Amino acid sequence: MRIIQIFAFVAALCVSTLVRAQDESQAVNRSQYASREIAPDPSVNNCTNQPHSLAQMKGNLYRWVGGPGGGYTGFVLTSPEGALVVDAGGTCNARWLLDEIKTQLKVPVKYVILSHAHFDHIGGAQVFQQAGATVISQKNALEPIIGDKLPTAVPDRVFENQMKLTFGGENAILYYVGPSHSNSMTLVYFPTYKALQCVDVCEAGRALPFNDFPDFYYEGFIATLDWVIKQDVDTINTGHGMGTKEDQQVARDYMINLHDQVLALVRKGEEWDHLYRDVKFTDEQKKYPNYDANHILNILGMYRYVSEHHRGVW
Ligand SMILES: [Zn+2]
Repeated sequence: MRIIQIFAFVAALCVSTLVRAQDESQAVNRSQYASREIAPDPSVNNCTNQPHSLAQMKGNLYRWVGGPGGGYTGFVLTSPEGALVVDAGGTCNARWLLDEIKTQLKVPVKYVILSHAHFDHIGGAQVFQQAGATVISQKNALEPIIGDKLPTAVPDRVFENQMKLTFGGENAILYYVGPSHSNSMTLVYFPTYKALQCVDVCEAGRALPFNDFPDFYYEGFIATLDWVIKQDVDTINTGHGMGTKEDQQVARDYMINLHDQVLALVRKGEEWDHLYRDVKFTDEQKKYPNYDANHILNILGMYRYVSEHHRGVW
């Protein structure tokens, strides 16, 4: 009898943990931010040179392309109950996308997922919120949105590790793996379509990561790419283009190799002036379209990270 009771208790504990793991989201008391200071919105005035489209990928999964220069993208999952949109791409883009979903898909926007708290991807989310959408982010996004006075929506709900959304016969699962590019990166998985939104950590094709790794956490970046590579996914939206799992394996190997090279050079006592000339790139990497723009900046970002996480003999 005792054993049965213990078993029942453990089973109940497992079920409750499972339920919590499915949706551990919390409502944000937005009223406390009602009079928050908001920085001027740079994405509201210049709507020219924003070529845009909303195109079907597979079944109810679509993807928007737009934002400045048409350089931004996010998935849209539609259903009879409304659409889920990943990111907003600025206020001009959000206004266009809200109308486009209404006319093309004939549904309202039900959910907007903020991939991470960087303005260039999430600016404009207030357009959807004002039209009735629920805005969701990882909980760490709240602080920079408020603290940096970002002109976007304050999320309605935040989650910690995982959140499942089921609506109109469709599913999306939000995951937080760890700090990577920002400490609020949400990976949005669409299991029915084997599709994943992985913004600014994943690469679209063979390319070097952006610039000097702004808002960068090395260990979590690698852990996030390792997590992506393990998922049952064949389409990855990077927020700027489309990539494959193979692209992420290449990106991961590059990042580790760069880290190991820079660390070895720092340990040799090399200062920046020599160090950046001594990092080796493969012939293949030298042919990447963004090699010229990014390779020195990538070394700089890694040099900064390694220097801050290295002590030596003292
Ligand atoms: Zn970013």
